Amino acid sequence: MGSSRLNTALVAIAHMQPTLGHFIDGKVVAGGGAPSEVFRPDTGETLGAINDATADEVNAAVAAAKRAFPAWAATSGERRKEMLHKVADIIEARAEEIAAVECLDAGQCWRFMAKAAVRGAENFRFFADLAPSAADGVSLPTADHLNYTTRMAVGPVAVITPWNTPFMLSTWKIAPALAAGCTVVQKPAEWSPYSARLLVEIAHEAGLPAGVFNSVNGLGETTGKRLTEHPDIKAIAFVGESKTGSAIMRQGSETLKRVHFELGGKNPVIVFDDADLERALDAVVFMIFSLNGQRCTSSSRVLIQSSIYDRFVEGIAVRVRNLKVGDPFDPATEVGPLIHPRHLAKVESYADIARADGATVAVGGARVPGPGYFYQPTLYTAADQHMRIAQEEIFGPVLTAIPFEDEADAIAKANDAAYGLAAYLWTSEIGRALRVSNALEAGMIWVNSENVRHLPAPFGGMKASGIGRDGGDWSFDFYMETKNVALAMGNHKMQRLGV
Ligand code: NAD
Repeated sequence: MGSSRLNTALVAIAHMQPTLGHFIDGKVVAGGGAPSEVFRPDTGETLGAINDATADEVNAAVAAAKRAFPAWAATSGERRKEMLHKVADIIEARAEEIAAVECLDAGQCWRFMAKAAVRGAENFRFFADLAPSAADGVSLPTADHLNYTTRMAVGPVAVITPWNTPFMLSTWKIAPALAAGCTVVQKPAEWSPYSARLLVEIAHEAGLPAGVFNSVNGLGETTGKRLTEHPDIKAIAFVGESKTGSAIMRQGSETLKRVHFELGGKNPVIVFDDADLERALDAVVFMIFSLNGQRCTSSSRVLIQSSIYDRFVEGIAVRVRNLKVGDPFDPATEVGPLIHPRHLAKVESYADIARADGATVAVGGARVPGPGYFYQPTLYTAADQHMRIAQEEIFGPVLTAIPFEDEADAIAKANDAAYGLAAYLWTSEIGRALRVSNALEAGMIWVNSENVRHLPAPFGGMKASGIGRDGGDWSFDFYMETKNVALAMGNHKMQRLGV
């Protein structure tokens, strides 16, 4: 079973070998830049390489997006809707192949990727349906004027995506951009570039005109930088680390680009002693150990009320020891490999940091011997909120447990972080749920739930976790300019100068 999925993935990327170039103006471009190796996370073998786009190649991709923009923006919403549904149809038809490529390239587990590919199709359908109304505005009449608003697509946009769940995240950005009437130049992450190429190919198979969606490969500091500095790119949608967000903001500042940032997190899950502890335990373990812990919304800090701390931590420890680590293609596997040796070294370094800061490595804390970039699911206990393991985004299968005394202490500890992406809260008291939710500094809060997304709801973070929101109309607000038109309804009084 696992080997047939591996084979599916290898076949799906065979035409991208040995070196993956770019997709510009509806055509594959081999690329003349320096190659950069792509590794297979589960074995550590070289999977292939990408070409780092040259300045000319980035310019060609932006020029194609600029040329295609007027016609795409003028295409009716109904027609855009049809085409984007077609993209979704093909994604659904090829979902197994896409999921297998994510397992191979990003090391993500089949049990989660099978759903993630389908979610990619749902993202396209959701924004496809909104395309006909994307330009709609509001009417704001006064006694003598009718003010009405309308929206128009902002222009060619850059979409820069990370390596953790590359396909789903690409659809999450690109579907609303295309539905809004923008043209796109994507730069996928250099460590997991293959599924993004599948997406651009699928979009063209679905009938997207040449130049509407382009993809350039390369490194962040070269290709990414060129793209974000390009004067013809009007906006940058970026998902990645907070410090990269700062760099991109600087790069785009000269040309006054608008930015939409979905950045890192150190998300707390707060467990009160009155919670349904069995369900809370399921959620805590799921939200940090699924997706190999490489998930922006992972609950990487568990804040546990001191009255239940020992009991709840023991419950977590039992589960963590029991997690099935291994072959990402095997549907029974719960935790797969980390993406890259550099990332593995980073995640691994926190065990020594935890010990030096006085925490206990209760479970795991080391890489798994053998090939691939596997790291043991890890639980740090006896931690306090000031330690680096409680403050920094580790982005691996690593959970830090911290006790708290009461509601005020829980809120103070939850908010004591540079990040503010998501927070999770477990309690059976409704008043407490409301009070704590009001006080939490996070863009998204789930009460008695894990991360269940509703596409019309806003997605995004505050503080170092981001700028802007995705989802529903929030996405269109970013990819579109709002215009106000004021029409005089009669001969209102006007000042006459120089008469
Ligand atoms: P990263 O910031 O290192 O890279 C993301 C992308 O930015 C890559 O394509 C990279 O090549 C590019 N890049 C790097 N430097 C650049 C530059 N100077 N100019 C332009 N582009 C540049 O992030 P990563 O390590 O790939 O991904 C992990 C991070 O992403 C984590 O911090 C995680 O929390 C975050 N993330 C956030 C969300 C969210 O929705 N908030 C979702 C997924 C991942």
